[in-house]
Amino acid sequence: MTDSVGRKKWPSAEKFLANLDLSGEKSTLNESNFRVICAALFSPDEIQQNDWRIQDIFSLFDRDRDGVLEGQEWKTFYDWLRTMIEPVTALLVVDVQNDFIDGTLALRDCGCNQDGVDVVEPINRLIKEGQFNKIIYSQDWHPGNHISFYENLHLRELHPDSKVTKENAKPFDTVIFAEPRSEQILWPRHCVMNTWGSQLHKDLVIAPGTEQVRKGDNPEVDAYSVFYKSENSIELEAILRKASVTHVYICGIAYDVCVKASSLDGLRLGYPLAVIDDCCRGVNTDDIEAAKKLISENGGLITNSDHVLALVNETKRSLVMSHQSAKMIYSVSLSESSQNGRDLIQHVSDPE
Ligand SMILES: [Zn+2]
Repeated sequence: MTDSVGRKKWPSAEKFLANLDLSGEKSTLNESNFRVICAALFSPDEIQQNDWRIQDIFSLFDRDRDGVLEGQEWKTFYDWLRTMIEPVTALLVVDVQNDFIDGTLALRDCGCNQDGVDVVEPINRLIKEGQFNKIIYSQDWHPGNHISFYENLHLRELHPDSKVTKENAKPFDTVIFAEPRSEQILWPRHCVMNTWGSQLHKDLVIAPGTEQVRKGDNPEVDAYSVFYKSENSIELEAILRKASVTHVYICGIAYDVCVKASSLDGLRLGYPLAVIDDCCRGVNTDDIEAAKKLISENGGLITNSDHVLALVNETKRSLVMSHQSAKMIYSVSLSESSQNGRDLIQHVSDPE
């Protein structure tokens, strides 16, 4: 059976439970049956390496700690199961733009032996072969007087705390601007709006029906994350919400800057999220390693294209992403139940 984008899929959460012979357990589930479900969803290797995650997911749902999911606990579990069985996936292609590949901020000139052009082919494969529900391309999009440009240092005052001064500043140094006080890396002028440098690379496949999001158009604010809310651009979060996206996959340039910031923001917003390692290139080797570590520590999955294609096209799921999803669904259920609690208190204290 396949869904609207041609992906192999489970028939429905209900059928999935029936296939596992668990539909008789209407609205209750113990831990050993929960493990039967996990064995159907996740690979044996992942279960073996991350067994603690299965325990943690179960205990997130089992709020009264009696070893059985029932009532509201079962509903929370079932919401989670439905997003596993019927995921809505988005591929976010970050800043695959001329200036980062062949222009003023070409990664190959940044000294860590990476070349931005190397992301184009593997990303094209994902776009062509991956059955994503949504594909979004981002662009760094700056006005000529942007605060992040080394060449614009003379336009603004530095804070007295800035160790780097206007006289000794070099590209890639970090300065502190005065008003408002803000730290800023000084990048060579790049991705000026409506120029060749800000265009997406000519060989990047643009699939029909996809969306583009731009960031960094405010001259006074640098925006590494594609989730950054700009006044003049469509918001990524609004696009994801409108499409009811449940799982986000991120790739592009630069790994240790905009891919990192976007991934951390996506995780903070609660999205199960994977970074596609072989489809990313960055500025600095140590910073790339630090970014991967930080993303993992925050619940993200660092993986590769082959695994992502298996996840989005087949019926297996990622335990790491599913764990993040469980945390999100749990926190939503908590806020809903506390909202109900407040409504109840209000109702009881209402003299009518
Ligand atoms: Zn920029």
